[in-house]
Amino acid sequence: MPGSTSAPPRRKRRAIIIGGSMSGLFSAAFLRQIGWDADVYERSSVELVGRGAGITTHPELIEALEASGAGTADLGVEVPKRIAIDRNGNITGERPLRQILTSWDRLQRLLRATIDETHYHLGHAFERVDQDERGVRVTFAGGKVEHADLLIGGDGIRSSVRGQMAPELQPIYAGYYIWRGAPNEADLSPKTLKEIFPYFVFYLPPRQEVITYPISGFNNELTPGKRRYNFIWYRVADAQQMKEMNVDERGVQHEFSVPPPLIRRDLIAQMYADARDIMPEVMLDCVMTMKQPFITPIYDFTADRIVFGRVAMVGDAAANARPHMGFGVAKAGGDAMALARHLRDNEDIDTALKAYNAERQPIGNTIVMHSRKLGTHMGVNLKTEEDRRMHALLQSDEAMMDWIAVPNFLDAYK
Ligand SMILES: Cc1cc2nc3c(=O)[nH]c(=O)nc-3n(C[C@H](O)[C@H](O)[C@H](O)COP(=O)(O)OP(=O)(O)OC[C@H]3O[C@@H](n4cnc5c(N)ncnc54)[C@H](O)[C@@H]3O)c2cc1C
Repeated sequence: MPGSTSAPPRRKRRAIIIGGSMSGLFSAAFLRQIGWDADVYERSSVELVGRGAGITTHPELIEALEASGAGTADLGVEVPKRIAIDRNGNITGERPLRQILTSWDRLQRLLRATIDETHYHLGHAFERVDQDERGVRVTFAGGKVEHADLLIGGDGIRSSVRGQMAPELQPIYAGYYIWRGAPNEADLSPKTLKEIFPYFVFYLPPRQEVITYPISGFNNELTPGKRRYNFIWYRVADAQQMKEMNVDERGVQHEFSVPPPLIRRDLIAQMYADARDIMPEVMLDCVMTMKQPFITPIYDFTADRIVFGRVAMVGDAAANARPHMGFGVAKAGGDAMALARHLRDNEDIDTALKAYNAERQPIGNTIVMHSRKLGTHMGVNLKTEEDRRMHALLQSDEAMMDWIAVPNFLDAYK
């Protein structure tokens, strides 16, 4: 209005978010709440369904889901306790601990429903970002260009955004991997259903770790009889052995992991043979009923900064812990929530990003360090006296039940 002294209304701010999974969707939800425009760009050209498997929940994850608007409806299966069993299937210890176990698919669906179709763009692979005083200019494969005040890298452990901002940062192989699968409840024996299915279960042969718990079935089916049983078997393999395991059924070498349908039959046959040698009957039942066992090599990394000018990293792209605490999605939600809070509380974006880095970089680092501590159970690369002490402590079933995937572990660092 001519002659008016009041300040013009502020232009709506805009963020471009790379990655349409957990941290990307959390970021969009929290930014919308503070009045930003937020567009999510996902490389995959099809919806992200049917990926991942079981996810342990934590109070921080529940809080982020509620605050983001995704909610927690039909989140998963609740277990009343954890138990540890021995080679004969006898219970060696137990801990009452109510926990809700969900699935990657369920979380993706809840979060995906929070975003308007017009702001979720499949089939867009980030290529590069250029920055100037006005913000960011983002180029996608194929040449499309978008401008915004802020770029958020939520594109996972192998982030291309981080690859441009900090190419020296590479995830480190932990020296062990997991065989994973999720047999259908309906396929398991009555003995397995009775003795282990209702619980979070540990079976811990030397330098190995088997962890199982119930999750929802396909299409988030929670009806008894239609659920699945999440099965995780940690095993040691050095980098050379892992490289050999990353040769697929057709003889093609993969850099990080082999897509499940292409895993070599000889590896699966060897896995079955090893399972027959060491597993209690109820665990072997899970192994033999898994439809498509697959291998996940374990990597981690942490970064000394998670903000690069007007580029902020969130979730696994910012720091990636080994999965011993089952905290990755909770961290993704926490990163996104903190980023939006600082952008709300600071008019100046750069000041807000500085505050975000100061709050969340140390937390990401702590989570990674804690996961390495828990990883000492496997007895790989024990470098310090502290590693060896922790390794010795974690040889007991009781200690593993007290440390692995328990809630509120971050309180010890406050
Ligand atoms: C074995 C295992 C067990 C786990 N268990 C748990 C658990 O119990 N509880 C838990 O909370 N967490 C768990 N996690 C971790 C959890 O899965 C991750 O922390 C979580 O998925 C991270 O979400 P994100 O959005 O940051 O990354 P991601 O889920 O990896 O998503 C990144 C997205 O970015 C996209 N993308 C990549 N590059 C580009 C590009 N150039 N352009 C556009 N898009 C791109 C990808 O397609 C992908 O969709 C586990 C992980 C593993 C490996």
